[in-house]
Amino acid sequence: MQNQTLIQYFHWYYNEEENLWTKVANEAAHLKEMGVTMAWLPPAYKGSSGGYSVGYDAYDLFDLGEFDQKGSVETKYGSKEQFLKAIEALHDQSIGVLADAVFNHKAAGDELERFLVRRVDENDRTKFISDPFEIEAWTKFTFPGRGDTYSNFKWDFKCFSGVDWANDIKEKGIFSIQNEVGGDFEEVPSDEKGNFDYLMFNDIDFRNRAVVDELKYWGEWLVNSTGVDGFRLDAVKHISPEFIREWIAHLNAKFDRKFFIVAENWDIVNSVQQETYLQQIEGETQLFDTLLHRRFYLASKQGKDFDLSSILNNTLMSIRPELAVTFVDNHDSQPLQSLESYVDFWFRPIAYAIILLRQQGIPCLFFPDVYGGIYDDKSEVGEDTHIQLAILPEVEIMSRLRAHLAYGEQCDYFNHKNCIGWTRAGDDEHEHSGLAVVASNSEDGFKTMDIGKKHCGKTFVDALKHRTDEVVIDQNGNGGFPCNAGSVSVWVIKGG
Ligand code: CA
Repeated sequence: MQNQTLIQYFHWYYNEEENLWTKVANEAAHLKEMGVTMAWLPPAYKGSSGGYSVGYDAYDLFDLGEFDQKGSVETKYGSKEQFLKAIEALHDQSIGVLADAVFNHKAAGDELERFLVRRVDENDRTKFISDPFEIEAWTKFTFPGRGDTYSNFKWDFKCFSGVDWANDIKEKGIFSIQNEVGGDFEEVPSDEKGNFDYLMFNDIDFRNRAVVDELKYWGEWLVNSTGVDGFRLDAVKHISPEFIREWIAHLNAKFDRKFFIVAENWDIVNSVQQETYLQQIEGETQLFDTLLHRRFYLASKQGKDFDLSSILNNTLMSIRPELAVTFVDNHDSQPLQSLESYVDFWFRPIAYAIILLRQQGIPCLFFPDVYGGIYDDKSEVGEDTHIQLAILPEVEIMSRLRAHLAYGEQCDYFNHKNCIGWTRAGDDEHEHSGLAVVASNSEDGFKTMDIGKKHCGKTFVDALKHRTDEVVIDQNGNGGFPCNAGSVSVWVIKGG
């Protein structure tokens, strides 16, 4: 069995000439060589700004770049035909495809409706600050460009629990919709702001059974018409966990398989919240290890003052490794985005070593670390920003090492504030497998570590070429492995 590795095949500012679906199709063979086993693709359906939408402003889940809606036929990433070709190319390389599913909200309704709302306190959504009154809002979705193709379901205000724009009085706010099923917000995992059901746009109300049925049908339709192998669920902390469980159970039963599903439950401080969510969801999804991302971020900012031996404390990787999808950064944490907390470049190779070369967790590579990314942001206050995310050559190297060599027993040496290390002993199934990792967030590092007696007499070299020394394993299976200051070295069998 090969280790699993995901890649998030996009970032917020993807702007290369080749559209993304074409690029990933052309890159499929390369991804396989890198050891990637699953690709998480961005939302493939039409968003509120048509060809400009990154996709989290979902408008029509059934429009995969096929209908003239919101100003374009194609999405930012290409046409439906190109999307299908991309999936085929990935499948040809035995790479699974994760579809991004935005269930929390819908944006840019086609028609206005009038209905009763109550205004809530933005900072405490359990507090109503007005009596019921009528507003007009964009809550009617008729999909004029698609019509009844694939689904004749039309959304209206009864499908939503809240909106943030009253079009008739031109007022912003958070308006709780007085519909037949609710009249307040739903119970959701996050109690930030009192109740964090409402995030943005038209917030979907899962107490409406017709909505639940439609979204189940959409899942079936997507699997049947595209062959995707699993899902990345957006923003689940704002969504009823009962709905998520029901939706997953439905899909698994319908296709008689267990889909790979990873949920985004963004919480960077509190491991209890992540554990509670896993209980609510009954362990039916993997979770992104946002807690580990936070540790990486802090370590990168604090330099040698960060206690590296504590890097895994209170992370999913340490407390629920079997359900952790680990990552260094994503499209929300990249510069200028809503959850900006980009791990500094000097620390990124160390962070990637931790997610790629250890036993625990399934790692997810981030597109700019493999391909780079350059983008310019026109600031509202007039100062433009130019951002370059450089390619990290170490990521591709370590991803290959993960696929070929990162096997066997793991022995940890998290015993120094500024220098940590671990070894993987290798196994019989993978030729030349076994490796040793040493990382330092201060001066040059050094660790004597046990890599197993079967390696005695063998010579090890640094696969990242940060060090040019050679390390020979003694008769007890120990080696003395160095690394440079603020760096990581990955020691592998020479010539292996
Ligand atoms: Ca919600």
